[in-house]
Amino acid sequence: RNYTREEIMELVEEEDVGFIRLQFTDIFGNMKNMAIPVNQLPKALDNRIVFDGSSIDGYARMEESDMYLYPDLNTFEIFPWRPQQGKVARFICNVYKTDGTPYSQDPRQVLAKAIAEAKELGLSFRVRPECEFFLFHTDENGMATTTTHERASYFDVGPLDMGENARRDIVLTLEEMDIAVKSSHHEHAPGQHEIDMEFAEASCMADDLMTFKTVVKTIAKRHGLHASFMPKPLSSVHGSGMHLNMYMRRDDKNIFTDQGDAYGLSKEAYYFIAGIMKHIKAITFITNPLVNSYKRLVTGYEAPSHIAWSPINKTQLIRIPSIRGESTRIELTSPDPAANPYLALAVCLKAGLQGIKDRQLPPSAIDQTIAKMSAAEVATAQVEALPRTLLEAAGAFEEDEFIRSVVGEELARKLIKAKKAEYLDYAEKVSTWEIEQYLHRI
Ligand code: GLU
Ligand code: MG
Ligand code: MG
Repeated sequence: RNYTREEIMELVEEEDVGFIRLQFTDIFGNMKNMAIPVNQLPKALDNRIVFDGSSIDGYARMEESDMYLYPDLNTFEIFPWRPQQGKVARFICNVYKTDGTPYSQDPRQVLAKAIAEAKELGLSFRVRPECEFFLFHTDENGMATTTTHERASYFDVGPLDMGENARRDIVLTLEEMDIAVKSSHHEHAPGQHEIDMEFAEASCMADDLMTFKTVVKTIAKRHGLHASFMPKPLSSVHGSGMHLNMYMRRDDKNIFTDQGDAYGLSKEAYYFIAGIMKHIKAITFITNPLVNSYKRLVTGYEAPSHIAWSPINKTQLIRIPSIRGESTRIELTSPDPAANPYLALAVCLKAGLQGIKDRQLPPSAIDQTIAKMSAAEVATAQVEALPRTLLEAAGAFEEDEFIRSVVGEELARKLIKAKKAEYLDYAEKVSTWEIEQYLHRI
């Protein structure tokens, strides 16, 4: 979509829009917004709407607390679930400083910068996430629980339960908001679902992922359910991932495909894989940002725990979906839906791009399932583990100058500080596991 200012003013009039939400995303991937009545729209379109950045987590220090929201006209969308008279519409905004320069810690602009660098090389980055989530019941106070009454599993169909109805409503709402859905299905765990969007340019996809989460949560709530993107809400069932299918294009052509190669992959595809693998430990800090993320990255639940790729084995961290030709892509399976989509796509793009620039080849493929290899075999194959905790990932990120530079030093510092504090806070709390293990015996 390419809207002009005039078109926006006309649309707002025609559609009887009463309120405009000006949305942006904080460094942790939380959506924030400020609502303005429609008579303030000309001011917003002149980029004159100010907000207090000091109240946003990870944002400005006191002395630079005034921030400006510059709406991206092409992100104009009406919320289908709000009233039909005096409708509510939104823009996704870029955050600017009072001196008229972009705010370096605005994740959306971190991604825009990475995309601009690819563009200089004539490349565009296409992404399709596979976002999983749970639909849980709420208690009598409307608070979220981890209970689900359904028993369905992978690709199961009805009895028409609330989950199925909610999922259908979610998909219809996404389509009303111009987000193309490829498919949706029930996932392995009871109450767990997946909705896959169509491939899109990374810039658009990061925005769409933010919208996706809002839609899933909003529509689930209408069905009396609580949607959660928590990576591992229950110990002994599957967690929720956000696999990223990725490829690059030049002149609208997929550059990852080569029919002359044994696996149908081009040199660029191998280089891209190499770039991601080289930086994966630091990338994990961005793609798996919670204490809880690391409880998903264990064997037994179809989530990766080791750093390996394979053109044939579908259990590896980086796998190559069977489809070839224009649809050739690589699939990174470690990311989870708690990731800040702007930062996650930025670090994957930049790492892959650097691999292409350096013409780096990946380590040998591991075609065996790692969970079935002995410790000695894993060691001989020089397969390393992904970071085991948020603290370990923070350390890897701290040591990876390249990945730090993608998000920018100041943002990197804030993330490291916040995430180490989050880990330490967690580590000093006594858990139910400890009580169960020790209280009686010790
Ligand atoms: N839920 C699994 C994960 O944690 C993925 C299952 C699947 O292959 O879709 O990544
Ligand atoms: Mg899945
Ligand atoms: Mg997948």
